[in-house]
Amino acid sequence: MLATATLTAEKNAYEVALENFDLAANALELDNNVRAMIKYPERELTVSVPVRMDSGKIVRFVGYRVQHSTQRGPAKGGIRFHPNVTIDEVRALATWMTWKCAVVNIPYGGGKGGITCNPKEMSMGELERMTRRYASAILPIIGPEKDIPAPDVYTTPQIMAWIMDTYSMMKGYPVTGVVTGKPISLGGSLGRNEATGRGVFYTIRSSCQNLGIPFQGARTVVQGFGNAGSIAATLMHEAGAKVIAVSDTRGCIFNPRGLDVLAVVEFKKRTGSVTGFPGAEKITADELLALDCEVLIPAALENAITVDNAHTIRARIVAEAANGPVTPDADRIFDEKCVFLIPDILCNAGGVTVSYFEWVQDENHLFWDENDVNAKLEKIMVRSFNDVFKIHVERKVNMRLAANMVGVGRVAEACRVRGLYP
Ligand code: GLU
Repeated sequence: MLATATLTAEKNAYEVALENFDLAANALELDNNVRAMIKYPERELTVSVPVRMDSGKIVRFVGYRVQHSTQRGPAKGGIRFHPNVTIDEVRALATWMTWKCAVVNIPYGGGKGGITCNPKEMSMGELERMTRRYASAILPIIGPEKDIPAPDVYTTPQIMAWIMDTYSMMKGYPVTGVVTGKPISLGGSLGRNEATGRGVFYTIRSSCQNLGIPFQGARTVVQGFGNAGSIAATLMHEAGAKVIAVSDTRGCIFNPRGLDVLAVVEFKKRTGSVTGFPGAEKITADELLALDCEVLIPAALENAITVDNAHTIRARIVAEAANGPVTPDADRIFDEKCVFLIPDILCNAGGVTVSYFEWVQDENHLFWDENDVNAKLEKIMVRSFNDVFKIHVERKVNMRLAANMVGVGRVAEACRVRGLYP
């Protein structure tokens, strides 16, 4: 196995992203000139977002949009509304989008945006005013042929609709292709809402097949019960795996005989949390991660599994539904323990893949049925898994490095044939 990146406690997500790039570039023996052209973000915009709150007071938020790469196509990636958003987090997420789009081989570069805010404490009116002001501030650099935002943590189809409307009003005509993850009534794609979780499910199924782990009855633990986590859990359950524990920001529930996932989804819809679900035991977040299981799905935020808790993991497969949940030091511990990691840029790429389908449908004004969308998604996820798994086996590198080698290698190739302007 080639070495994975080393992490000190001070290293943030962007430093991790740069270090993982270097490891892939080294393994690919990439030319220094190409490295200089593809490693760093191409464009970064920081904007002031003043918002009139319901109280009448004006609060100034800070927003970002980072375009890491447009080598293979327009920048593509979500917008995050979260208190912990920083420029370095957005840079890291934008960088990962570049390699992610290349791993699934869709014609996009990578970008990401965010606003440092707590949307859980904001009214719908405040959220709408903040979204529209942010959209108008980043308007000069976005567009269907330049940079296409989408949902990410705590952003929704409704928020995408407000961005589409703001952009369209300023252009003077409707531009549906400026964002993806829109409501179906506004040019959204069938299957987009479920796509991230569905892609996670396909990569886990492929992993089980390749590792000889029976999928039927596979004990599955899900950390984070938002869009990706709840849908991955539902599909695992429906396909015969046994989801034994799930968690959200308020707590964790466990039932060794298996949870009725559809009932948990209903319960959360009704009460706002999975905690208190009848017939399940309450456990701590540390206990959840350390459960004896076949599949662990971290589906919350970055840095969930670090040097501090990686040694407690007993799962055979860890499927990164979130972006960046496992740190490089934890990767190294996983290598020693022979935990099979499905890296984020492969595992959760179903979301951006169906975003691509949505953009194609919008640009063509021709819409596909859901079976079509899901069949095309399955084909891309299985092919991408096989591309990465092949490098993992042939080059004897872990799955993280294999995925980065596929992604970085494709961007490097595009860079080589385009050459340097002027
Ligand atoms: N935010 C998602 C991601 O991290 C989706 C991005 C998109 O659809 O453009 O992959």
